[in-house]
Amino acid sequence: MLKKSKKLMSAGKIESFQEIFICPLCKSQMQMVNLQSLVCGSQHCFDIAKQGYINLLSRASHAKYDKKIFEYRREISKGGLFNPLHAAVSEIITSQLPSNEPVSILDAGCGEGTHLNNIKKEINQKKNNPLLAVGIDISKEGISFAAAEYPNAIWCVADIANCPFNSQQFQFILNILSPANYSEFQRLITDDGLMIKIVPEQDYLIELREIFYKGSEKQVYSNSLTTSHFNEHFKLLDVESIRYQANLSEPLIEPLLGMTPLSWGTSKERIEKIRQMNLKQVTMDFKILIGKK
Ligand SMILES: [Zn+2]
Repeated sequence: MLKKSKKLMSAGKIESFQEIFICPLCKSQMQMVNLQSLVCGSQHCFDIAKQGYINLLSRASHAKYDKKIFEYRREISKGGLFNPLHAAVSEIITSQLPSNEPVSILDAGCGEGTHLNNIKKEINQKKNNPLLAVGIDISKEGISFAAAEYPNAIWCVADIANCPFNSQQFQFILNILSPANYSEFQRLITDDGLMIKIVPEQDYLIELREIFYKGSEKQVYSNSLTTSHFNEHFKLLDVESIRYQANLSEPLIEPLLGMTPLSWGTSKERIEKIRQMNLKQVTMDFKILIGKK
């Protein structure tokens, strides 16, 4: 049997869900044409990339993301540092799933896709609902990385301020350690849908902040603004705190230092400093905000 190309497989998947898409330029309905492109009623055309994602930015983004950041994040995710967080989020979703009905999940700001992939995998192990997972991010580097590794979701380069989807398409919207656009999330979520936002808490990676930011204000996270912002758009149903120690093996030191845009820097000196401290564990500390329209 011939193995279908990644691009064709993704195009087929996008075609079977084409009714969720609208044109980011003129907002009209889109259709898959020749398993090549999504085209709207006004002939705006967006091609499927060979890695299997689709770029639906209305204009080119000038934001430059370092490819390396996504490689680092993937190494950290695969190293298991986020596993308890993924388990907690999939637990929240499975506890809310209607029996056997199809469900759609959007990860807004999905980066290189491992959060969404792991969460989907855990849900699939527990429930039989047909699950559509859609990840969007403004970074082409991140989405390209996601599509290359995880073919079981739809991956789009898109702006969270101008999401290329019809209203009320998603029962669950995830926004994990990433900026939000709540008015768009409100438009996209179903009436009984669940908005799940994850933010870092006070002790997140505190070991590193104590080393590198001692005495400076960068050392402290504060989430009071985030919570009130969430509250303006969604009714806050619940807040879960999740805090754990994650094992830090030596190969994870460099990716951990380099995985955030506000990185601590991955200079040899910094890596060496952590190595010499013999740091075996880091604290992971998050708050999960759960809300409805
Ligand atoms: Zn259009």
